[in-house]
Amino acid sequence: MSIGLFGGTFDPVHNGHLKIASEMLRLLNLSELRFIPCALPSHRSLPLVSACDRAAMLDLAIETEPRFVCDRREIDRIGPSFTIDTLAEIREEIGLSCPLVFLMGSDAVHSIASWKQWKKLLNYTHLFIVNRPGVSVRFPSHVWEWVKMYQVSNLSCLDLTPNGHIFITPANALEISATEVREMLYRRLPDVDRVLPRCVLDFVKQNNLYLEQWNNENGKSSFAKKSVLANEN
Ligand code: ATP
Repeated sequence: MSIGLFGGTFDPVHNGHLKIASEMLRLLNLSELRFIPCALPSHRSLPLVSACDRAAMLDLAIETEPRFVCDRREIDRIGPSFTIDTLAEIREEIGLSCPLVFLMGSDAVHSIASWKQWKKLLNYTHLFIVNRPGVSVRFPSHVWEWVKMYQVSNLSCLDLTPNGHIFITPANALEISATEVREMLYRRLPDVDRVLPRCVLDFVKQNNLYLEQWNNENGKSSFAKKSVLANEN
């Protein structure tokens, strides 16, 4: 059986994440799906909420599905959260034969070339790409050439080898982003209960999260902090 991996900032985890994770469980023969909240992203703006609170919200959101697990290794590790380091660690722990399948939205694939050693990701895992509404799967040409080289059209290929394939799923993703959720929370919009699980919303309220915007150095406010880390190619 394969192990699914789902990395992200989860700031906060929302119904879009949970729906695609459940879809992945249904489509693939997964023994478990690990959500891996990153501590210090290297390729995007910093999370608004602490890693500890983001992981606590994940714990609450996944508690009804026994095959969902929150893996805190990036929070426990010192320094930036590089996916390649996480994959190497997990591969070392589980051995060479078990298939690993890393879930990514198409928006993340657009910028994958800024990830540390991105072309080596497939040495450890398969990629399961989901198209996010409003995001084209017309990736930059160097990314697209790489995707085409490893793409398979049959999902069962991901079960037959431990790593090395890319599958683009026709599954539909919900049109929800954490950026929009943070804005809804900040503006105290009642509709937020349609995009967040009740337990996560309760945690947000109890801990007074997402009540402030981050002021960046240009004086403009936004719902994300600017990353202080340079990309590593
Ligand atoms: P933000 O708006 O802060 O960028 P996000 O909603 O994109 O957040 P992340 O935690 O950054 O969420 O994303 C983690 C992973 O989940 C990425 O691969 C991303 O593409 C994917 N993802 C996020 N939202 C959805 C969604 N609605 N459907 C499918 N995948 C999603």
